[in-house]
Amino acid sequence: MDQSSPNVLQRWLTGPRIGALPALAELPAPQLSFEFFPPKTEALESQLWSCIRRLEPLAPRFVSVTYGAGGSTQARTHATVARLVQETSLTPAAHLTCVGATREEVNAVAQGYWDAGVRHIVALRGDAPGGGTGYQPHPGGYAYAADLVEGLKRIAPFEISVAAYPEGHPTALSAEQDLDNLKRKIDAGATRAITQYFFDTEIFLRFLDRAHAAGITVPIVPGIMPVTNFAQAARFSAMSGASVPAWMGKLYEGLDEDAETRRMVSAVVAAEQVRLLQANGVDEFHFYTLNRPDLVYAIAHILGARPKA
Ligand code: FAD
Repeated sequence: MDQSSPNVLQRWLTGPRIGALPALAELPAPQLSFEFFPPKTEALESQLWSCIRRLEPLAPRFVSVTYGAGGSTQARTHATVARLVQETSLTPAAHLTCVGATREEVNAVAQGYWDAGVRHIVALRGDAPGGGTGYQPHPGGYAYAADLVEGLKRIAPFEISVAAYPEGHPTALSAEQDLDNLKRKIDAGATRAITQYFFDTEIFLRFLDRAHAAGITVPIVPGIMPVTNFAQAARFSAMSGASVPAWMGKLYEGLDEDAETRRMVSAVVAAEQVRLLQANGVDEFHFYTLNRPDLVYAIAHILGARPKA
């Protein structure tokens, strides 16, 4: 990823503008990764696996599986990741959190992944059960993601990705403190940051500039969320701190009852967002699939991804 420029935003402002952006077909196909969540029911399980099978031929760099709170959802993450190793050509990354477990318990999960052939962990703090802002570290556990990264490195030479927040983590005291925290996670051994989704590309580019200025040199991979339900996305974004630009509201205006047009609009919005980022030297993207493959497949196709034999 060419993120070595000291001032990406300046390059964007003085360089290619929307009208002068290269056509999508002229840009090289970017590197992609896809995120899934573990299913809760058999019907959702079969939806997940048809999603995985549909996206597998696109040969993503890796696919990641989220980790919930509580034993049963965590077991589903393990089962999904183990099946990815055994039955597919994909490289899985297992999300792992600090929540509600001792260090020994978290270490045992990580060791189990290593023994099962999983080499990539997305190391996260996680949230308080039920969400909200009341996170309390487990008395015998890893308190924050940086501690988890350090612990994982002691277990095995995992590839480790961590979370980043272009608009700041909702509980961060300041943007600077949030960036210091990201730096701590990288210094502890993470080699990639994957971002919370965002819709305002300029915010990401400014964040990239600040991260470079803070000495963060690992790839910061934009998390791309194709929006199919605008009202729901706007509600969720208000909680997660992602701003929703006014132009987006206009694009989805009048489409509440028209899911098919919304999906077409979503494909265009996501592909344009990626194109703008590519024009600024970003060439790796993480897609939140929500276990629904068609829209992500179409966007990946527009971006130049083609099924491998
Ligand atoms: P951290 O990096 O630990 O930071 C959390 C907050 O604590 C920040 O505000 C930070 O500044 C502050 N902080 C850090 N260290 C200290 C310290 N020593 N003292 C005081 N404050 C400190 N959640 C899940 O439950 N499962 C998932 O699978 C999952 N996947 C995700 C994937 C991505 C790409 C992203 C962006 C998020 C994901 N999340 C997931 C959500 C994540 O768990 C929450 O956003 C959580 O609130 C923060 O996790 P973190 O790893 O960023 O935490």
